[in-house]
Amino acid sequence: MKAIRVHSYGGPEVLKYEEVPTPKPGPGEARVKIEAAGVNYIDIYHRTGLYPSQLPFIPGMEGAGIVDEVGSGVSEIRVGDRVAYAMQQGSYAEYAILPAWKLVPLPDNLSTQSAAAAMLQGMTAHYLTHSTYPLKAGDTVLIHAAAGGVGLLLIQMAKRRGAKVFGTVSTEEKASLAKEAGADEVILYTQSDFEEEIKKLTNGQGVEVVYDSVGKTTFDKSLNCLKPRGYLALFGQSSGPVPPVDLRILAKGSYFLTRPTLSHYAANRAELLERAGDLFRWITSGELKLRIDHTYPLAEADKAHQALEGRKTSGKLLLIP
Ligand code: NDP
Repeated sequence: MKAIRVHSYGGPEVLKYEEVPTPKPGPGEARVKIEAAGVNYIDIYHRTGLYPSQLPFIPGMEGAGIVDEVGSGVSEIRVGDRVAYAMQQGSYAEYAILPAWKLVPLPDNLSTQSAAAAMLQGMTAHYLTHSTYPLKAGDTVLIHAAAGGVGLLLIQMAKRRGAKVFGTVSTEEKASLAKEAGADEVILYTQSDFEEEIKKLTNGQGVEVVYDSVGKTTFDKSLNCLKPRGYLALFGQSSGPVPPVDLRILAKGSYFLTRPTLSHYAANRAELLERAGDLFRWITSGELKLRIDHTYPLAEADKAHQALEGRKTSGKLLLIP
């Protein structure tokens, strides 16, 4: 089969389009013929080695397609099922092997492209707004990179739960997209000081929760945007990792700090089916809008990474084998 492989960590140029052996499913596993692979920021952390993987490896943590072979002892899905998954490495390929429990069957009216666009970023937005800090009506929330893949979905879910949403973005164009998704106020954090803006917008009170995936360049000010006893959910580091923190800093407002990841919030089949079920229902009913920014042939994974890292995208990037 054709796949993208990484033999050494580095820039987008280390993503090599190659012929590799087609894998066979073992006990409890299934093989999926990938129709669309989602590109996510975590793929960049894997490619650069910020999150180490064993070399060489096939990147990609999200995909959708058709089950074409199952190993022994698989009861969750059958050959021919249309499925999607997230948080298992190897989707930048024509075929991927998955533990069967991680595969979510798709409703008939959901395309594999939409499913591949929704799983990872959608379940992330879901757990952040429903579990890490379950938003309630009247809460105020700050979402960084609000026009990103996760960001646009976070805005919509926060609004569904009745929160007032402030977002940060780098350009006017992204500001319009964040507004369209439902953000009440959008701050250009490349031009103005978002801490000052949040203080103004909240009459000095601050927000209940900050969902911060930008990390290094936003962390300190994100803490300063919180109300006393507010929550900072640091769930990524697109600008670079946050340096070690002296925890006494939390005493400024008796703050709560967490560094959550999706794998702990879709930890078993029941939880996975519940989150994905909500997503698929909202998407097929039109309540949740997906924005597919661009679709690339699998061989052009490097172009997708350049665009994502270069802050050129808003919404989802897909690779089509
Ligand atoms: P995005 O589409 O949000 O792309 C990243 C965005 O980050 C950019 O578009 C840019 O938006 C912003 N950004 C700010 N500073 C920088 C910088 N120096 N370099 C590059 N980008 C920057 O990506 P995803 O939706 O895939 O992921 C968003 C974040 O969420 C990532 O940090 C990812 O790791 C994290 N994540 C965490 C998960 C978890 O469970 N912990 C699961 C899924 C994602 P702008 O131009 O507006 O500043």
